[in-house]
Amino acid sequence: MRFDGQLVFVTGGARGIGQAIVKRFADEGASVIFTYRSSESAALQLEADLTAQGKQAKAVALDVSSHDAALAVVEAAVQERGPINVLVNNAGVTEDGFLMLMEESSWDNVIDTNLKGAYNCCKAVLPAMIGKRSGVIVNIASVIGMAGAASQTNYSASKAGLIGLTRALSKEVGGKGIRVNAIAPGYIATDMLEKVPERIRRQFIEKISCGRFGEADEVAKVALFLASSEASYIYGQTIVVDGGMI
Ligand code: NDP
Repeated sequence: MRFDGQLVFVTGGARGIGQAIVKRFADEGASVIFTYRSSESAALQLEADLTAQGKQAKAVALDVSSHDAALAVVEAAVQERGPINVLVNNAGVTEDGFLMLMEESSWDNVIDTNLKGAYNCCKAVLPAMIGKRSGVIVNIASVIGMAGAASQTNYSASKAGLIGLTRALSKEVGGKGIRVNAIAPGYIATDMLEKVPERIRRQFIEKISCGRFGEADEVAKVALFLASSEASYIYGQTIVVDGGMI
């Protein structure tokens, strides 16, 4: 069990990619705290299922865009269970639209969740990680943050920002025993992709070398790798997991 005795904190863990990440870490012996915002019943169900299997998982409510709430939730987790070994910033949203027509609230919500949310959670976990000179942060970015996509300026900017945050924070804390990396998934079959009209999804598939959407677990396995000692010399990188899309 590669993560026996380790405390892992995953944002947005009740469904989609986050849920797959929670399950992978719990399978590997970690004690996993995962957050939810609106999916309370799915979160409690996941906690109950994993606990019934003899694994360690706890769901906590958190809107990652709230600076004070993120600090308070992480502080409570550290008080209860000790320093967090691994943070996975997974929570994310889309609110698509052409920039000329985009409401300010759509811009703010996407940036505040996808980018500021990661800042909030990194800030919250770092003091304890620096204190024991060890820790890993994995940020879930997107290939859209590298390639851009029409009607996704807010999302593209948030994920490009997250890739920049990853590089910069790695330089800031790499010398203090903390590894910060990111994953840039392509199109993964989750609720987020379900929001895209069928006609557009068919166009997406044509751009993917392997001819299919990815599975959430195919991202989770890379998160596990980046958090493990097998990735001990990987700092500040963004690993593309996109079936050959970009
Ligand atoms: P889903 O829409 O399935 O899940 C989104 C998750 O984010 C949910 O768990 C949701 O929690 C959580 N979340 C959203 N807003 C907040 C918030 N303000 N505070 C806390 N949690 C929040 O998406 P995916 O699983 O597909 O996406 C996971 C990550 O992967 C995201 O960062 C996304 O941008 C990224 N990604 C996804 C791709 C895809 O094709 N699916 C491709 C590339 C990147 P709740 O349900 O409790 O509200």
